[in-house]
Amino acid sequence: MSAAGRLEEYRRKRDFRSTPEPSGGESRGQLFAIQKHDASRLHYDFRLEADGVLKSWAVPKGPSTDPGEKRLAIPTEDHPVDYLEFEGTIPENEYGGGAVLVWDSGSYTNQTTGDDGRPVPMADAISNGHVSFSLSGQKISGGYSLIRTGLDDTRWLLIKKDDKHADARRNPTSTEPESVISGLTLTEISEQAGGGERAHS
Ligand code: MN
Repeated sequence: MSAAGRLEEYRRKRDFRSTPEPSGGESRGQLFAIQKHDASRLHYDFRLEADGVLKSWAVPKGPSTDPGEKRLAIPTEDHPVDYLEFEGTIPENEYGGGAVLVWDSGSYTNQTTGDDGRPVPMADAISNGHVSFSLSGQKISGGYSLIRTGLDDTRWLLIKKDDKHADARRNPTSTEPESVISGLTLTEISEQAGGGERAHS
């Protein structure tokens, strides 16, 4: 399927006359972003570029740097590549309404191998439900796995690998809450939009 075809669900859910979110973008290689999103429930959106789109998972607690912490990751629709830098406030009447900031971003390398030890391309690794990669971000680095659990596609786990970047004492989602692009917090971003601090529903 083309990148445009993969973005059909993303585009169907949004009115681009109303939301400031991007509608497309050109592939730029193996990049990732983790967005903090104050939707009806606060969560982190973990996105990896593969095949011209951003493969996406909603991670309620965000990534951990502790290999002993498995974080639930719920697949969401493919997003356009230009979403890597998207930060702002989605109107409340739009899908996913609420403030978004880029909590971390950088490049990644695919480290997925098959039973025979050979590299597995990202798209295949994702459809197999077992992806292994190394991140090079500003807050998060080193190896992680995304593993599908169960038979349906609704529950995955994001797990830190036990490497030199593993650190059970770090808790970057609470100690480093601000954007890596603007330095702003979610509250500051929603205040910029003129909405002030919004009540959590
Ligand atoms: Mn989200």
